[in-house]
Formats: sequence, structure tokens, C-alpha cells
Amino acid sequence: MSNVISGKELSKTIRAKVKEDVEKLQATYNKVPHLVVVLVGEDPASLSYVTAKERACKRAGMKSTLLRKDASITQAELLTLIHELNDDPDVHGILVQLPIPDHIDENVIIDAIKQEKDVDGFHPLNVAAVHLGTPGILPATPKGIMTMLKSTGVELKGKRALVIGRSNIVGKPVAMLLLKEHATVTIAHSRTQNMGDLAREADILVAAVGRANMVTGDMIKEGAVVIDVGVNRVDDKLVGDVDFEAAKEKAAFITPVPGGVGPMTIASLLENTVECFLMIEGK
Ligand code: NAP
Repeated sequence: MSNVISGKELSKTIRAKVKEDVEKLQATYNKVPHLVVVLVGEDPASLSYVTAKERACKRAGMKSTLLRKDASITQAELLTLIHELNDDPDVHGILVQLPIPDHIDENVIIDAIKQEKDVDGFHPLNVAAVHLGTPGILPATPKGIMTMLKSTGVELKGKRALVIGRSNIVGKPVAMLLLKEHATVTIAHSRTQNMGDLAREADILVAAVGRANMVTGDMIKEGAVVIDVGVNRVDDKLVGDVDFEAAKEKAAFITPVPGGVGPMTIASLLENTVECFLMIEGK
């Protein structure tokens, strides 16, 4: 029977700490961190994500601005906007909600964001920092996952970790961060063979795939720590990539969906916005 790692509760503690930090920043610098979120188009899921991010910023005492742009905006126009935000001394964090329409090259836009305003941690220099193990802005979801893992008190050093999924925003950075903590890391993906065998050896299992209940109870090692990143809608309910009910009988710690990694992603974004503020104002 597992301990459930509540991202909802842990994120509350982080958000309270960020709020305190913001009050101190206001006293020291006479201004608060300002996050600008750019939303292109009308995707309802993206709109609900950016609304949640905005709300969290405001609750933490930060300034937050949502810039909505029509899906017909050109790449050149979006680049001009990014350059303006880069040059604006009142802006500390820039987040372009992904995905953006196909006629715009996502990489060109991400590359254009100043590294110290890249609250998402997607800029190539921040990606390089994760791989080099040097200071930089960590992508929010992997950062939240590492905070959750550390909250368990379980030593990561020397443990076998399996990360299922190799996306640039979750799988790969999580694997690198686990490696930095001296875990022995395997990355699995859609062509991986013998997934069950790999999973049964894993002391730490991170599932970031997007396939409901693909990690079954028989794949979990007794006493493992299981982090379920997946968000899947099944019969109007949100479920993860892990069969929670079966897995919790074997894992020592497990994250629920919803209420697990999701709230931690937002809390980590707030932490990143404070970090960006300090990089800019502390110069
Ligand atoms: P993604 O870019 O679609 O990547 C999915 C990964 O899963 C790919 O590497 C893919 O392998 C692998 N995969 C697909 N089918 C597989 C299979 N049958 N067996 C093993 N691996 C398989 O997704 P993502 O952006 O990383 O997101 C993953 C999940 O996390 C999604 O459900 C997403 O909604 C969720 N998510 C949640 C949060 C949060 O804050 N809660 C944040 C980000 C993402 P290939 O590379 O071989 O195609």
C-alpha cells in the first residue's frame, strides 16, 4: 500500500513560499515579477492552461499579462512581439503557450526569447544547461517531478530509474535530472521492447506517454516510487498513464492524476518566474 504524493498539497507549500519571496522582492526592488503569457489561437485546452497560470501568478502576488493573438498572426509579427517583450524592462518572464499554429516555426520563436526571460526552460541554452548540469532555468514539469521525488526522502543515488517517454519537454529532461542525482537511468519509448521487464526492475518509474493506464500493476516493482505524468481523458474523467489502483498496492510512493504532477508544473513555473526576476533585477 503506497503513500500518495499529493502534488496539490506540495504545490500549496511552494506557492506560499513564492508569495513570501514576492513580498520580499517588492520590499527590496519596489517591483514584483511580471510574467507575460502569449496565446496564439483559440485552442480551449491552451486557454484553460494559460488561465490557470495567470490565476496562480496573481495569487502569488505577481503581475501577469495574457496577450491573445489571432491564429493568423505571421511568424514575423510574433517575432516582433517577442523582441518587444525581450526589451521591455517591466517584463521578467515570457511564456509562449504551445502548440502554436503550423505556419509558425516553434523553434524560431523559442530561440528568440531571451534566455533569462525563458520561464518555460525551453530555450536551447537552458536545454543545454540541463544536459551539462550547469545553472539554468529548468522546464517546469521536470522540475516539479524532481521536487516530488525529493519530497519522498527516497535516496535517488544508485537507484534504477525508468523514464517512459522521450519528449523534449518531459522525458529527456527528467532523465537528465535523474542522472544528475546519480540514478542509473533507462529511457523507454514507442519502439522499446520488453517494457514490462524494464519496469519491474525500476526503483523509480516516471511515465510520460499519454496512454491511459498503459503501466499496469504487474509492471511495478515492490516499493518503487511511481510518478505519473500522463493526462488522458477517458469517459469524461482524467486518468494517468499508470493504473493507479493496481500500482498503489505495490509502490511505496505514487502520484495521483489529477492532483499530482499538474499542480507541481504550475508551482514550478512560479518559482521560475522569481528566478528570472532575480537574474534580471539582480544584475
Ligand atoms: P509526447 O511528446 O507525445 O511524447 C510521448 C512519448 O511517449 C514519446 O516519446 C513516445 O515515443 C512515447 N510513447 C508513445 N507510445 C508509447 C508506448 N506504447 N510505449 C512507450 N512509449 C510510448 O508527450 P509529452 O508532451 O511528453 O507528454 C506526455 C504525457 O504527459 C501526456 O499525457 C501529456 O498530456 C502529459 N503532460 C502532463 C503535464 C502536466 O503538467 N501534468 C505536462 C506535460 C505533459 P516516441 O518518441 O517513440 O514516439
